[in-house]
Amino acid sequence: MTHPTELLPGYVLGDLTGPELESVETHLSGCADCRAEVARLRDALFSLADDLPDAALPSGAWQRLQARRTVSAVPRRSHRPLSVAPRLQRPRWPWLAAAAVVVLALGVITTRPFTEPSQQATAAQWEAQSVRRVMLTAQGSEPFGTLFVRPDGQALVVLTRPAPTGQVYQAWGRRGNGPDAGVPVSLGLTGGTVMQVGWRGYASVGISVEPAGGSPAPTQPLGRVALPGS
Ligand SMILES: [Zn+2]
Repeated sequence: MTHPTELLPGYVLGDLTGPELESVETHLSGCADCRAEVARLRDALFSLADDLPDAALPSGAWQRLQARRTVSAVPRRSHRPLSVAPRLQRPRWPWLAAAAVVVLALGVITTRPFTEPSQQATAAQWEAQSVRRVMLTAQGSEPFGTLFVRPDGQALVVLTRPAPTGQVYQAWGRRGNGPDAGVPVSLGLTGGTVMQVGWRGYASVGISVEPAGGSPAPTQPLGRVALPGS
């Protein structure tokens, strides 16, 4: 079986449409491994939301999202109990709610579809206002990920596929001026495909592939992007 691993982050983020979306949904219905990966990616996004300042959602919206998330994140045949952790009860990042609206609207087959266009329009406005989305592209090749940049200094790096076996992704910030201008500073690393980094004070964020445990300086840089407004 060929697993659409590189499409799963896009699926979770609500990016897929048409045949791509259909093929992923068909695959997910028959592949527990990929369903687990989707659940893991969703959890990463939602746990990230817990660290963020409160934001307003229309009354009842979060409860509806949570109800659908619980259903969609746990495979039907799972023996694990359905549960929603207390930390997931409050909306903290409007963009995540927006993503959840899209993902859950597309992803939930067994429950009533999400059919509130005005609320989806509101979610789109939130996304436009609060989060800048930057493609991470290696020179002359396909995008290798997406950077979601929030104005409060936090950003989410979502890579399109896991790093090669035994290696990790490492994020680097570079200052635009001063005595340390251009010197890469490690912002964090991940053995998976999602990481949160603080970008305050840096003019660009780069991603490299490194041996497990990371490196003091980038050894296999994939590419970097200038930060919005820097
Ligand atoms: Zn699969």
